[in-house]
Amino acid sequence: MDFLNILSRQVGFAQKEVLLSPHTTFGIGGRCRLFVQPCSCDEICKTVDFCRDNGVLYTIMGNGSNLLFGDDGFDGVVIKLGNRFADLVVNENKVIAQAGATTKRLYNLAKKHGLGGMEFLATLPASVGGATVLNAGCFGKCTADLVEKVWATDGKSTKVFDKSDCRFGYRDSVFKTNGFVVTMVQFCLHRADPCVTEKIYLDTICKKRQSQPLDKKSAGCFFKKHDGISAGYFIDKLGLKGVCVGDAQISQKHAGFVVNNGNATCSQVLQLVDLIQTKCKNTFGFVLEPEVVLCGSTHDFRRLSYTYSL
Ligand SMILES: Cc1cc2nc3c(=O)[nH]c(=O)nc-3n(C[C@H](O)[C@H](O)[C@H](O)COP(=O)(O)OP(=O)(O)OC[C@H]3O[C@@H](n4cnc5c(N)ncnc54)[C@H](O)[C@@H]3O)c2cc1C
Repeated sequence: MDFLNILSRQVGFAQKEVLLSPHTTFGIGGRCRLFVQPCSCDEICKTVDFCRDNGVLYTIMGNGSNLLFGDDGFDGVVIKLGNRFADLVVNENKVIAQAGATTKRLYNLAKKHGLGGMEFLATLPASVGGATVLNAGCFGKCTADLVEKVWATDGKSTKVFDKSDCRFGYRDSVFKTNGFVVTMVQFCLHRADPCVTEKIYLDTICKKRQSQPLDKKSAGCFFKKHDGISAGYFIDKLGLKGVCVGDAQISQKHAGFVVNNGNATCSQVLQLVDLIQTKCKNTFGFVLEPEVVLCGSTHDFRRLSYTYSL
């Protein structure tokens, strides 16, 4: 019996050869060898520990809203923290959330308890884990503003990280590189009238809808800001708005977004990314760094000449 058969018998919910595209907001990605959806910290630890001990390639995903999987898929185990691992507990002005809960659900529960502060995060299609790892945010606010404590595991043990241990930065945290899986997060919110909270949420989503192609499949803004300036500004200046490769397109509405108009492939998206990076380097002298996390084989990502040499 191979390793994946052994693992799939140890965790409650594991499927073989799962197509990854429906699990991402981009709608792109081939199959993975095993797709595991743990329902407890114990199952997460067991899976990570098993993969590490047996040299099996694995990756973690939350809501798949900042991920680009390769057309060849992922030759290993994808561990999805989603609605099977999404409990929420409110205690006075604190909310403790399991990593798989969506930020929208967290916002709704907090609002019901007369707590505010989560409105901006609820406008992102994020899981609590993904938002924390990437320190997601918008309009000058970020996840780190609300985080008090993070529980994370390396498979052998679970550690509590105080906010200062998380080393939050722009779309960055210690969890991007330390190999720990975020399992739970404690947020500190403030008392707020639910009507006021809802108005802030609706105003924020309205602002986003006006400037971003939220009706299209994408992974959000593809590139990080450069020197505090939106990548979309530079891409627009390069005259690249609307450029297509197959079904992949640089959004007409917001040049920082690459959208999937139907059946775009990872390869098509990467041709656009390559075009943007090359033109930006030649015209402005710097390379825009992807914010979207690229996950797959070297073959899929060989095209990215500047930032990624996998
Ligand atoms: C329409 C749209 C609009 C968006 N707008 C914004 C925006 O305004 N601001 C912004 O910051 N982002 C935005 N995004 C991007 C995205 O929603 C955020 O980056 C979000 O935080 C990603 O969360 P996720 O759960 O989907 O993570 P995923 O995409 O599933 O994963 C992202 C990365 O985090 C890692 N990860 C996920 N969960 C864990 C965990 N529990 N432990 C360890 N590692 C983990 C994964 O391995 C991967 O490397 C937008 C995306 C879309 C589609």
